[in-house]
Amino acid sequence: MNSPLQPVSRDLLEDLAAANHILSDQGVVDAFGHVSARHPARPDQFLLARNMAPSQVRPEDIVTYGLDGTPLDAGDRRSYLERFIHGSIYRARPDVMAVVHSHSPAVLPFAIAKGARLRPVCHMSGFLGGGSPLFEIRDAAGDGTDLLISSDGLGRALATDLGQADFVLMRGHGSTTVANSLKLAVYRAVYAETNAKLQMQAMQLGEPEYLTSGECDATIDSVEGQVERPWALWKAAARQRRSSTT
Ligand code: MN
Repeated sequence: MNSPLQPVSRDLLEDLAAANHILSDQGVVDAFGHVSARHPARPDQFLLARNMAPSQVRPEDIVTYGLDGTPLDAGDRRSYLERFIHGSIYRARPDVMAVVHSHSPAVLPFAIAKGARLRPVCHMSGFLGGGSPLFEIRDAAGDGTDLLISSDGLGRALATDLGQADFVLMRGHGSTTVANSLKLAVYRAVYAETNAKLQMQAMQLGEPEYLTSGECDATIDSVEGQVERPWALWKAAARQRRSSTT
């Protein structure tokens, strides 16, 4: 869509840069992985860094995209190959305001082992109670792909499998999580990784006792409302680490 660009606040650009730094500092992303926010004034656009490592993203590195993945103000800046993950989910899910895609290492085995299911085992991860469907790229594009969501068509297939859940596993690749705010999407990406570690540890001791759907709903209400606290902590930690390494 050829529509005029509307500026976004400096605060949002700084929050998006901070979200990149937090996800890197918390071990959710490394050189790869990305986080986006829907444009607050233009629901048909989203904001995502140019193609670069998350830990190095600055506010001026944020590019505006249409939902089909077309960069609107990139200039000569390169785009992430998998930007279609974000636009396709914003198109399919009007409630979603932020998306995190990662290859975080504790979650990945749940996207590899046949029959494994990532399920909520603690009160910080009630959002997993909505299910963690597994996206199988072979069903959409055959058995010769590079596993990347590198087209709008593959993005649509992923968004279809996400459905109304908050989290989707991607076989042999990683995962994507969504939320109605940037801070909550970051929180969920961090705690999905924590939950995966805890679940695997618990499985070594015995059969895990998973949260019931009632416990998931109740913990979402009480814990996710406090998202400002971990955000402030993680942001300060990431800033401290950055200042000590530069
Ligand atoms: Mn990826």
